[in-house]
Amino acid sequence: MKSNKFKDIRARLSKTQKELAQLLGVSIKAIHSYEQGWRRIPHHVERQLLFLLSRTLMDDDIPSDKCWDIRKCPDKIQKSCPAWEFKSGDLCWFINGTKCSGKAYSSWEEKMEECKNCEVFNRFFEKETKGNG
Ligand code: SF4
Repeated sequence: MKSNKFKDIRARLSKTQKELAQLLGVSIKAIHSYEQGWRRIPHHVERQLLFLLSRTLMDDDIPSDKCWDIRKCPDKIQKSCPAWEFKSGDLCWFINGTKCSGKAYSSWEEKMEECKNCEVFNRFFEKETKGNG
């Protein structure tokens, strides 16, 4: 995630740097560094930020279909996928080890590359992750 997206999402959440630091479990200095682009935003911070934003969007008109139905996963893949195991058909993007293309991704970056082009993820985040990076 780029610094401008991080800043945009903080604005969407209506949080000060101090409040967001508390929510993410990092220092205010770290938030400042992420927003200025001085420090790379760690994966766990990006994931937590997206999680918080997704919960604020839950009341919007977002369909509740599960990812395995949307992606029409074959039964064998579905039953071996962590999204199914942990009953997270709308939070699959949050969980490592999902098997959207038949096998688990080797990294968060690799997973996000697929998620950013996936309908399940984009129900929440299209505006936040497309465009300026
Ligand atoms: S590609 Fe990502 S958002 Fe799409 S079903 Fe898989 S984990 Fe979920």
